[in-house]
Amino acid sequence: MPELPEVETIRWDLTKDVKGKRIRDVEILNAKVIKEPKPAQFKSRLKGVCFVDFLRRAKVLGIRLSSGEYLVVHLRMTGQLVYSACKEEKARVIFTLSDGKFLNFNDQRLFAELRLVKDWQDLKFLRQLGPEPLEKDFTEPRFRQMLKGKKTKIKPLLMDQGFIAGIGNLYAQEALFLAGICPARAANALKVQEIKKLYQAIKQVLQEGIRYRGSSIDNYVNGRGKRGQYHLRLKVYGRDGEPCLTCKARIKKIQLAGRGTCFCPRCQK
Ligand SMILES: [Zn+2]
Repeated sequence: MPELPEVETIRWDLTKDVKGKRIRDVEILNAKVIKEPKPAQFKSRLKGVCFVDFLRRAKVLGIRLSSGEYLVVHLRMTGQLVYSACKEEKARVIFTLSDGKFLNFNDQRLFAELRLVKDWQDLKFLRQLGPEPLEKDFTEPRFRQMLKGKKTKIKPLLMDQGFIAGIGNLYAQEALFLAGICPARAANALKVQEIKKLYQAIKQVLQEGIRYRGSSIDNYVNGRGKRGQYHLRLKVYGRDGEPCLTCKARIKKIQLAGRGTCFCPRCQK
């Protein structure tokens, strides 16, 4: 499932490849992915407008258009946004661009969402998001403050988009391994030193995720249809039963808030 680094990678690719281009036509092959407005409206309001800017908030892309509106893309489980010389067979919506190429919106499982809105900041699910972990206003003192009084387990808390934006199951596990913290610890029981380590680990795994252009453990591909490389560097995610890369102990898998969670019982306390 695309998390912050995957969506950021797509944003970079599309900024390079698609920014400034005009939408010549919109082909809707499965209207289920269009949440608002009605498909006919969606099509007519997009035809002829240009892609002005590609923005991101959490795991959501906000594409500013020359009409002043925003095309909001939520990839969810299996969404892909691929700029290509051809129309892709699995596409649900295809944008024909002014350069004769295509922006394919693919989504195998039909959980992804497209919205055309006046102002994407007004969307309720965006207003409820926590801070962006790679932005300057997410400071260590702020993180310490955020954790105060949180009795929930640290791993599900990191995945809570209202607490902090953009982190999902994969990067939460990797950050906790890097920080040496057991995913089942109560958030408010972390010591100052542990909070500092976790704060740095969150930034580090997300930045590395971006540097390696995302992780393709499932069907994630970047804006050019290429797989990422970060999944080749995972320390705990998906490695249950395998030896820890640091201490050789067996990586353990537990369920936390209904999600499989891998960690090293020796390195993570
Ligand atoms: Zn270990």
